[in-house]
Amino acid sequence: MEFDSKEKYVCLVAPSFASEYEYPDFVYRLRKLGFEKVMEVTFGAKMTNLTYYSILKESIERGEKKTWIASPCPTIVNFIRVKYPHLVDNLVPGHSPMGCMGLITRKMYPKYKIVFVGPCMTKKMEAAETGTVDFVLNFRELEEIFEKKSIPERVTEDKYMIGFDKLYNDYTKIYPVSGGLSETLHYKNLLESRDILVMEGLNKLMPVFDQFKDGVYKHYKFLDILNCDGGCINGPGMISEKSVKERRRRVFKYRDYARRYEKDLGKSGLKAHAEGINFERKF
Ligand code: SF4
Repeated sequence: MEFDSKEKYVCLVAPSFASEYEYPDFVYRLRKLGFEKVMEVTFGAKMTNLTYYSILKESIERGEKKTWIASPCPTIVNFIRVKYPHLVDNLVPGHSPMGCMGLITRKMYPKYKIVFVGPCMTKKMEAAETGTVDFVLNFRELEEIFEKKSIPERVTEDKYMIGFDKLYNDYTKIYPVSGGLSETLHYKNLLESRDILVMEGLNKLMPVFDQFKDGVYKHYKFLDILNCDGGCINGPGMISEKSVKERRRRVFKYRDYARRYEKDLGKSGLKAHAEGINFERKF
């Protein structure tokens, strides 16, 4: 993408950035590149979770027998649409963290163009379908832009040295690791851990989809599934050679850092910030 000097831009950063880049240097680089606002997607992930929780709660209270399938991964969504259309009704009809954060950002900054940066190739399809963000870049594409615009790894000008803008959420920073959604869903009053299946990879998931009977897979009530092994930290748009274990460690380290040093900076997103926004989505 090319920046238009007549427009203002917000960058929404996927939490997997922490497995790849140093913080806060990464944010400084994005500001130097031309983004007026740089926000995390973590508050969007919190709204995804709250939407999921209420959809699952209503379904369980209705006594519905159904295995719900997590829908933040567009590769999984598209695969189900094409190969298992009878399971489309099992996809939780809620926006992904990118989608939720895009909707929140449109409300906060209606005149800005919204650019999502993350590890994924298929998020462009989701963006084109939902219109929740204007552009999607993966980290590989971002690297090319950093290089083309000669943005150094260390930015030292004071005017760019500002951390993330609000809104922020700490516990959903682990969303891009395998099982991160269910681990942050706070489901204890709704589900038992044995009701949830965490799995990645279409090869492993196909036998699961094949075994659905009347909308139900075995005893499970919720499938927390993704396409990439280990989660989005191993997405095809990542650049580094680090092992998945190391990427995972870095994500948790960043979550712990933020909890310790950033919790009281007044940036936490609250439900009130998202009031009036409908985070449900049709598939
Ligand atoms: S698991 Fe992979 S394909 Fe799915 S959203 Fe994450 S990066 Fe994209």
